[in-house]
Amino acid sequence: MLAEEAYLFTPQIAALPVAGATSRFPIRRLYCVGRNYVSHIREMKEGDERDPPFFFQKPADALVFDGGNVPYPPATTDFQYEVELVVAIGTAGASIPLNDALKHVYGYAIGIDMTRRDLQREARERQLPWEPGKSFDHSAPCGPLFPKEDVGDIASGAISLSVNGIPHQQADLKQMIWNVPEIIANLSKQYRLEPGDLIFTGTPAGVGPVQINDRIEATIAGLGSLSVTITSKEV
Ligand code: MN
Repeated sequence: MLAEEAYLFTPQIAALPVAGATSRFPIRRLYCVGRNYVSHIREMKEGDERDPPFFFQKPADALVFDGGNVPYPPATTDFQYEVELVVAIGTAGASIPLNDALKHVYGYAIGIDMTRRDLQREARERQLPWEPGKSFDHSAPCGPLFPKEDVGDIASGAISLSVNGIPHQQADLKQMIWNVPEIIANLSKQYRLEPGDLIFTGTPAGVGPVQINDRIEATIAGLGSLSVTITSKEV
């Protein structure tokens, strides 16, 4: 470890509040699953429905907490929401067997995978990387973390999102193509998972655009709700 005075500046550690606790959960990496609900694959008209889900990443400092503001990002005119169950890893592991996968979970939260849809589509058409569409500042609103010792493992239940009180996404978590153990088993074949890793597990149908001043509210049964407001562009 370097002494603190050896740093040229003080690094900021992204950390999620833990429901019912004063300590926070520091974030190491933020993984996301793409194409994990058939209904969303259909609305996106994305290739072959049988193609398996896949993974991408967002920067940990893209997190926005419950009640926070999401500035309308630059470089897009089609800024969209995707409500997702978030899994927090509490125990390290690589190539984790399916039957052991849930032992690595610390807890669960509600997340929104904010997306610059126009840039995502352009990347897809030109076969370029997804980062411009997915991995930008303020692109990962996430609610407080609920430890599994309090809420159990989350495998089914309602997931929903509304904008200004109008419902847009309504589904059940059991409609995920890869369930949580399958996501952990597959992801850990590609990357060693460590405490502090978050996994956004994909979105159902009903995604759509937001505008400045819109208020997004997302809910998942057992995990409360998450609200953020879209604010004017940062200058
Ligand atoms: Mn997503």
